[in-house]
Amino acid sequence: MRAEIIAVGTELLLGQIANTNAQFLSQKLADIGVGVYFHTVVGDNTERLLQVIRMAAKRSDLVIFSGGLGPTQDDLTKETVAAHVGVGLVKDSPAMQRIEDFFSQRGIVMTENNRKQALVLEGSHVFSNDFGMAPGMAIRHDSTTFVLLPGPPSELYPMVDRYVMPYLMNLLPESQVFHSRVFRFYGIGESALEERLIDLIEKQDNPTIAPYAKEFEVTLRVTARAATAAEGEAMILPVEKEIRDRVGQYIYGTGEDSSLHEVLVTGLIQRGETVACAESCTGGTVASLITSVPGSSAAFKGGVVCYTNEVKHQVLGVPEEVLNTDGAVSEKTAQLLAEHVRKKLGSTYGISVTGVAGPDSSEGKPVGLVYVGIAAEGLPTVVKELRLAGRRQAIVGRAAKFALFYALQ
Ligand code: ATP
Ligand code: MG
Repeated sequence: MRAEIIAVGTELLLGQIANTNAQFLSQKLADIGVGVYFHTVVGDNTERLLQVIRMAAKRSDLVIFSGGLGPTQDDLTKETVAAHVGVGLVKDSPAMQRIEDFFSQRGIVMTENNRKQALVLEGSHVFSNDFGMAPGMAIRHDSTTFVLLPGPPSELYPMVDRYVMPYLMNLLPESQVFHSRVFRFYGIGESALEERLIDLIEKQDNPTIAPYAKEFEVTLRVTARAATAAEGEAMILPVEKEIRDRVGQYIYGTGEDSSLHEVLVTGLIQRGETVACAESCTGGTVASLITSVPGSSAAFKGGVVCYTNEVKHQVLGVPEEVLNTDGAVSEKTAQLLAEHVRKKLGSTYGISVTGVAGPDSSEGKPVGLVYVGIAAEGLPTVVKELRLAGRRQAIVGRAAKFALFYALQ
């Protein structure tokens, strides 16, 4: 099946908002093995939208629209698809009821244009909008299926998850399931990973292997197409073994949403352990990532943002001679920060980060030089030296993730 996505909205063309709906939809389609061949953005203009629809109908089996289902004059996706397909618009009673209830419950007088939102293409399959007014819909014409979805992500995402994905799964050949496993990596870049797996990636067909990088982490998705999930699993296993043999030391998780901080917090809670952190160059980023995980209070004692030498000395007891001779950015300082924050806050582990985030060098040390310390009760403290590339924000982001990664080891 060949799919494409058409995002409608002049605000997208003007750069006022980013086309995140297309990104979301593409990921969803990739999950079920549907290939997306084009993303188009078009303004709120009937003539140009019609041009785009005609081209899409010729080349794609599935065309998904985002936006332009609302009440205003510039919302014209339904009207334009109706013109192309040659059907009229009819009232969807459940949607009309919802709209009327919405206004009467709030005691607001409904303007006439709101009724427009309850209109759907005649003969279409309607997707209810649980978080807004305009329903989505799907209609088949010639050999193309058109799916129309509302623009606001708060409405589009749940509609896709609840109603559109099951609908699309039904369009796929029955004997197919898509079984996939996600591998999450840290400490290896996307290109280095690809190089180590290049022969697997090049000969891939089924299962497919797709690496992608996001937020300083690399993810690899292996997807098998098979008659049953068990068969898909059997196809993934040999590929998984090969991946683990080659780059297993960089894998920290295999879950869909399991970020480094989630894996860390979950593991700590399971083992009844706790962590505390002392952060200089990351300014609290490690603590912020950890506390973004629900339930982290069971595992996180607290942190000190020890940005200045005074705080490193007065609050965390790093001796002045260490700060003056080794420096704030040094193996020794990282070690002492990790050990002292652990003792002071009474945690199982202490994490420290000290480094030069830039743009200027400091203590004669280069931008990107970072030390991460991991102290544990009854074990020698481990300090890792990192040479990170990138601008300030990237160095901080990577340093924080490295700290979490080493804390996992
Ligand atoms: P509404 O009923 O809110 O008018 P609509 O279906 O008519 O919904 P639009 O008017 O096109 O949709 O867009 C409404 C809002 O949804 C936009 O202002 C924007 O915030 C968001 N939005 C629209 N398209 C996209 C997109 N492609 N990616 C991300 N957000 C989008
Ligand atoms: Mg609108």
